[in-house]
Amino acid sequence: MDIVTKRPRGTEDKLPREIYKWQTVEKVARDTAEAYGCKEIRTPTFEHTELFQRGVGDTTDVVQKEMYTFEDKKGRSITLKPEGTAGVVRAAIENGLLNDALPLKTYYFTRCFRYEAPQSGRLREFNQFGVEVFGAAEPSSDAEVIALANSVIERLGVKNVLLKINSIGCPACRAEYHKALKEYYGQYKDKLCDTCLERLERNPMRLLDCKSEICSEFKKDAPMILDYLCDDCKTHFESVKKRLDALEIKYEVDPLIVRGLDYYTNTVFEFVSDEIGSQAAVCAGGRYNGLVEEIGGSPLAGLGFAMGLERMIMVMDSQKAEYAPEKKCDLYIATFDEETNIYAMTLAQKLRAEGFWAEYDTVGRSFKAQMKYANKINAAFCMVIGSDELAGGFAKLKRMSDGEEISVKLDDGFAERLNTLIMDISL
Ligand code: ATP
Ligand code: MG
Repeated sequence: MDIVTKRPRGTEDKLPREIYKWQTVEKVARDTAEAYGCKEIRTPTFEHTELFQRGVGDTTDVVQKEMYTFEDKKGRSITLKPEGTAGVVRAAIENGLLNDALPLKTYYFTRCFRYEAPQSGRLREFNQFGVEVFGAAEPSSDAEVIALANSVIERLGVKNVLLKINSIGCPACRAEYHKALKEYYGQYKDKLCDTCLERLERNPMRLLDCKSEICSEFKKDAPMILDYLCDDCKTHFESVKKRLDALEIKYEVDPLIVRGLDYYTNTVFEFVSDEIGSQAAVCAGGRYNGLVEEIGGSPLAGLGFAMGLERMIMVMDSQKAEYAPEKKCDLYIATFDEETNIYAMTLAQKLRAEGFWAEYDTVGRSFKAQMKYANKINAAFCMVIGSDELAGGFAKLKRMSDGEEISVKLDDGFAERLNTLIMDISL
């Protein structure tokens, strides 16, 4: 096939016939985020590469292997955003949003770009819904953000999603933990994979993340962060759990959920589903009290999550979850000649201005073909306008579901009558 008619590997077309799924998920996510007081933020699709090196971390897989980075015509290094948080933090600092009344609560929909091996639920361009909250350091905020994500999943009718939480402490208690990890994994240096050998030096917590068979074996006896938390971090974590219990949100504490970078603090969480592969995350997040400062702002607490929308829709499809029904054409106006077609056009224009979905012929179909087409697009009503109708100011509306014909006046009250008839159908 000609390359011009073939999309790049790892990308997807979201087609008109399935767009109602996206619109359902986006509406539910938006409404839920707004009920929690979040406002939408839209940041650029590309940023300076340095932002992600600092904001995602240059020891992460994302930065080391997965970024779409290029030089622009002036030789600046530019990267297509691989995730949403860094851009939001940058925008909040640059636009002084963190000097306003706190907490600042934001949400976004974004495309993300990561050069990964494409497979089910893993694309090179994918969509995320994310939430980021700044200036709220209390455990109540951790619980609120988790409750928000949980509520999106619940409102979408998605079942069997497991919430896993953990605390990775603060830089102080983590220093001890890193020492213990280095000591433990140090014994197996000659057996670890190359990536883990490097992690051992620069980012030891990420060893617990390794998917390779040999390194995974060592996990079960590895020291666990929860045994190393300082009193403050312990209290914080207990309070988050107490609040989740009060909200009746079920969770499992999983000490293997980690984020390897210093600016992540305290709570981390994932919502996982078995429906995309073994325990793949549909949503992941946590607290990042060191990130705003890392990116160049004054120190300020932050936390958030990102939900993978392709994965969410995959789970919904496999569970046959319900989407909001697709919109239906309200009225098709069939015509015979130029005069009646012009009348149909002006009537459709008026109806559309009132919010109806009205159609008439714009492709030169015969009358018979128009009726067939009205059926095909599943119009709720069909109306025939011939010269008699034009002269008499009356027409017959045919209800397509049962063929019932209703005579209506073609006057200023038409839209209202049509509306009543449409409401009748949906009852
Ligand atoms: P994974 O472990 O699956 O690679 P991740 O830790 O890289 O995920 P995050 O950076 O936490 O993922 O991104 C948040 C969410 O975005 C993930 O939980 C997932 O639902 C989704 N996601 C991440 N990478 C991809 C991808 N390549 N294609 C589709 N969705 C993705
Ligand atoms: Mg990944």
